[in-house]
Amino acid sequence: MLYRKLGRSGARLSALGFGCMRFLTKKGRPTWGANFDSEAALRLLHETRELGVNYFDTAYNYMGNRSENLLGRFLREIPGGSVLVATKYPVWKARHRNDFLRLFNVQMKRLGTDGVDLYLLHSLNGKLFEKARTMGILDFLDRLRSEGRVGLAGFSFHDAQESFGPIADAYDWDFCQIQYNIIDETVQAAGKSLEHAARKGLGVVVMEPLRGGALVGSQAPAVARAWEKSGGRRSKADWCLSWIWNRPEVSIVLSGMNTPGQLRENARIASRARPGSMTREELSVVAGVRKAYENLRVSGCTGCGYCMPCPFGVAIPSCFVAFDEARMLPGSDMPVTTYRQWLRPEQKADRCTGCGRCEERCPQNVGIREKLREVVRLFGGPSDR
Ligand code: SF4
Ligand code: SF4
Repeated sequence: MLYRKLGRSGARLSALGFGCMRFLTKKGRPTWGANFDSEAALRLLHETRELGVNYFDTAYNYMGNRSENLLGRFLREIPGGSVLVATKYPVWKARHRNDFLRLFNVQMKRLGTDGVDLYLLHSLNGKLFEKARTMGILDFLDRLRSEGRVGLAGFSFHDAQESFGPIADAYDWDFCQIQYNIIDETVQAAGKSLEHAARKGLGVVVMEPLRGGALVGSQAPAVARAWEKSGGRRSKADWCLSWIWNRPEVSIVLSGMNTPGQLRENARIASRARPGSMTREELSVVAGVRKAYENLRVSGCTGCGYCMPCPFGVAIPSCFVAFDEARMLPGSDMPVTTYRQWLRPEQKADRCTGCGRCEERCPQNVGIREKLREVVRLFGGPSDR
C-alpha cells in the first residue's frame, strides 16, 4: 500500500480508503440498507486493514443508520490507533443548534468513542451550508476541535462547482471530500474544485471514483470502442482509479468495495499508483474514453446554473444531468434514481410551465423548454412515479 499526506494537516493516509456505505446481503446482493450481512462486512473490514488500508469512512445515515455501529464493533476488535475513522455529521437533520451536540453524541455512542479522527459536514450544497452556518455549525466545529473530540474537520460536497469555492473559503477546513472520476472532471467541473482545494492546502478525499461501478459496467457502444484502444493492458477499474491517483492533489480515493475480490484488486492498483506515473500515451487513452462519454451529453447543458432560479422551482441543471447520464451510463440505475427519488416533485421537468425566462439567461442557448419535454418523455411525468 502507498500512503499520502492529507494536505497541510500532514496526516498519513493509505492511498485507498474504505467507504462503509454499501455491503452485501446474506444472499450476496449489494445493499445500501440495514439488511446487510454484518458478519461478512466485519470480515471484509479486517481484511482491508490487513492489506494496509488505514482510512475508514462512514456517516450517520449509511447502511440504514447501522454503518457507524459496524465500525464501532470493528474498532473494538483491533489495536487502538491502528486506523483512522472519518464520519459525517447529518447537517440536514439539525432543526436547532441544540441538535448539534445531541447528534454528535449519538454518533460517538455508535462508534463507542468520545471523539473521532476526522469529522465532515455531510453532503453540503450552497444552500444547506448557508442554513447550517447561520445556525452556528462552524462555532460548533470549533468547539469540538478545541475539546479534542474531533481531530480534523472537513466537508463532503455535492453541488455545482460555483458553490465549492465559497464553502471551501468559509472556514479553516483540513480537508474536503468531492466526487471525482473520468466523467465528472468537466461537467461538474470537479477538476477545478480539486485545484482550488489543493491551493488552499486542503487534503482531498475522492468519492465515487467508479460512479458506483457504472464506469466499469456495461458501456454505450461508443465508449466501449474507445476502451478497445487501451489494448486490454489494464482493467477498466485500473485505468479509472490510476487516472485519479495520477493527480498529486488527491490524498485518498474512497471505494465502496463489497467483496474480497474487489478489495484485493483495488489494493493491488493502489500499491503502484504514484502521482504523475501515467505516461502521456496512457493519459491519451483515458482522454479518448472521456471524449466518448462527453459526446453522449446531448442536452448541451454545462451545469453553469445561470438559468436558475426557475420561478416555478424546476431544478433545470439537475434534470439535464440525469438526462445526459442516462445515455452515458446505460447499465446504471443511478440516473433514474437521481431523477425520480432525489429530486423533489416541484424540481422535476414536468413542472415547467414554458414561461421561457430561463432561456434568456442561458449562455449555451440550450432550448431548455424543449429539452425538459424530452426529460419528461425519458423519465416519465407525475403519473409514472
Ligand atoms: S421555461 Fe420552465 S424551466 Fe424555464 S423558467 Fe419557465 S417554468 Fe422554469
Ligand atoms: S444556463 Fe444553460 S447551460 Fe447553464 S445550467 Fe442552465 S441550461 Fe445549463
